[in-house]
Amino acid sequence: MNLILLGPPGAGKGTQAKHLQDRYGIAQISTGDMLRAEVAAGSEVGQQARTIMEAGHLVSDDIIIRMLSARIDQPDCAKGFILDGFPRTVPQAQALDRMLTGKRLRLDAVIELEVDDAVLVDRISGRFTCAKCGTGYHDHFKPLHLAGTCDVCGAHEFVRRPDDKRETVSARLTAYHTQTAPILPHYKALGLLRAVDGMAEIDKVAGQIVGVLDEMRTAPAA
Ligand code: ADP
Ligand code: ADP
Ligand code: ZN
Repeated sequence: MNLILLGPPGAGKGTQAKHLQDRYGIAQISTGDMLRAEVAAGSEVGQQARTIMEAGHLVSDDIIIRMLSARIDQPDCAKGFILDGFPRTVPQAQALDRMLTGKRLRLDAVIELEVDDAVLVDRISGRFTCAKCGTGYHDHFKPLHLAGTCDVCGAHEFVRRPDDKRETVSARLTAYHTQTAPILPHYKALGLLRAVDGMAEIDKVAGQIVGVLDEMRTAPAA
């Protein structure tokens, strides 16, 4: 099963992608995580991407498309994948269509997480992740069970993203509305788009997504 999770920054794409990965055994592909790994490694791509990301702008389509095409060929994608944070522009969506056709793959669904901008600012400014296993948390909405200790791996180190500052969030929201939202009609026309209420609690959102996928698998779009 090959899915796209779409939605503004902080909508819950990463949180839900992890859930889908566990439930269906398909690979989560986060272009944001891949870029952060390049930045941490100090690679050429990372050096180009760092300042762009810190300003809340989008990294060039060329870099992203090349990175993604190689990633889909990895063995952990054999059962399928969840694209989290890609495509983000019309040229990326067009490149994805060509790429999938070339690899003889197809998309099963595009899930749009709908969340109001006002809520996103709170979500992003409270977000942190375990430095060891990458599990995502939130100061208020998904706190640690035991203070200072990761629920999943027991580590004590956590990280906050430099672009999760309040000042950067509005640039990222603008990028979403002007550059990413215009790809939605394309998937709607293909009958693949399903909107889910991303304002609900994490478990409820997960339940809605599973419901939508079950429905699409029993009655696929024409
Ligand atoms: P969020 O989960 O908050 O939506 P991501 O982790 O997906 O953020 O992305 C963080 C940053 O990485 C983006 O603001 C952008 O600079 C860059 N980025 C990630 N994916 C892409 C992409 N597909 N195209 C261009 N830039 C990207
Ligand atoms: P995205 O990948 O779309 O940028 P995340 O999955 O990282 O979003 O979620 C952003 C923040 O909001 C995280 O701190 C996460 O724990 C929290 N969060 C995710 N989904 C929900 C939800 N449905 N309700 C409340 N908080 C949420
Ligand atoms: Zn951990």
